[in-house]
Amino acid sequence: MSDTPSYGFDTLQIHAGSRPDPATGARQTPIYQTTAYVFRDADHAAALFNLQEVGYIYSRLTNPTVAVLQERIATLEGGVGAVCCSSGHAAQIMALFPLMQPGCNVVASTRLYGGTVTQFSQTIKRFGWSAKFVDFDDLDALREAIDDNTRAVFGESIANPGGYVTDIRAVADVADAAGVPLIIDNTSATPYLCRPFEHGASLVVHSTTKYLTGNGTVTGGCVVDSGRFDWSASDKFPSLSAPEPAYHGLKFHETFGPLAYTFHGIAIGLRDLGMTMNPQAAHYTLMGIETLSLRMQRHVENAKKVAAWLEADPRVDYVTYAGLPSSPYAERAERCYPKGAGGLFTFAVKGGYEACVKLVNALEIFSHVANLGDARSLIIHSASTTHRQLTPEQQEAAGAGPNVVRVSIGIEDADDLIADLDQALAKATA
Ligand SMILES: *Cc1c(COP(=O)(O)O)cnc(C)c1O
Repeated sequence: MSDTPSYGFDTLQIHAGSRPDPATGARQTPIYQTTAYVFRDADHAAALFNLQEVGYIYSRLTNPTVAVLQERIATLEGGVGAVCCSSGHAAQIMALFPLMQPGCNVVASTRLYGGTVTQFSQTIKRFGWSAKFVDFDDLDALREAIDDNTRAVFGESIANPGGYVTDIRAVADVADAAGVPLIIDNTSATPYLCRPFEHGASLVVHSTTKYLTGNGTVTGGCVVDSGRFDWSASDKFPSLSAPEPAYHGLKFHETFGPLAYTFHGIAIGLRDLGMTMNPQAAHYTLMGIETLSLRMQRHVENAKKVAAWLEADPRVDYVTYAGLPSSPYAERAERCYPKGAGGLFTFAVKGGYEACVKLVNALEIFSHVANLGDARSLIIHSASTTHRQLTPEQQEAAGAGPNVVRVSIGIEDADDLIADLDQALAKATA
């Protein structure tokens, strides 16, 4: 299917990027399980290596199965291009890589996936990069945190673990005024619930491991470019605007225009960092995306029912879900995320740590796993698992106190999920 922005989301999630296989006519996208591609002749090879012709060289850079997924995600997000990576965390490094140099920083939301907090606060220091964390509800603090060395602002649309939603437009206006791109991690919302480019974001990253694949089979990530950021407006982004020494002095922005960031991601990012998605993973994710809208509708519907039931239950202290009328973010969620506030939330169990551990053990449908965005319902007690190394104060600050569990509501029958929680809460609080 060619570029057809007039088609609706449900059509594009099945067709965007995919054409019948030119060699066989295969209707479903084949898994091109190959490392390399035969050049027509030496001139063809030279043209490919010079980026004068677009084509396939080696699967660390590009692969036809992965390319279909890239085009599909870019289309669903309303972007001009996308680069798929081996995981969501790889996508985050790949997103920052063209923008950053030693001494540069990213200004990030305090409400992020725990793994991202560690990646940004610890690991990126090894590259000479750093992160400053600010509350995205405090736009003055955000403005103040951005300095001459800031190269990006980073937040999540619907935040993981849940309960918080970002006003992307408000944050994008601050980033725009400072001349730096806003990167939105759109993993928990997916382009079905939120298209960050429509709210002013410049770049989007995904952990495709979660809702986009939707069946808990493969890890993957993706960086999507809106094509709208002007890399040449300042001298802040020399990898894109000035001659790039890692590609014999090529000026990416001048040469590729709106596709500069995507081409840089492949020609330098994947070439030299090698965080490549494999074609098998792309296949599973393509299968998942075909039903994305249907699943997201059910995730939201079920999350609303289960959250409302839990909030009314005397064994539960509180529920943090932006889709509940009682949430401090209810108005913002209605305004910015009208199709729903996603399928993730946390709740606090009366009886604290011990009761949470018993609850997790007693559940039958919910699986106790460190994952989210699966078709099946998942639960985790952060204080005894992912946040175990933190002090009780740090756990509270992260919204992962000893009395709190996080759920990723699946697409099963909501009544069965409620019955399961009911019987497990009875055992946990007996
Ligand atoms: C899981 C997740 C990531 C990391 O993705 P991986 O595929 O596990 O590397 C990043 N951001 C969010 C919001 C996530 O849920």
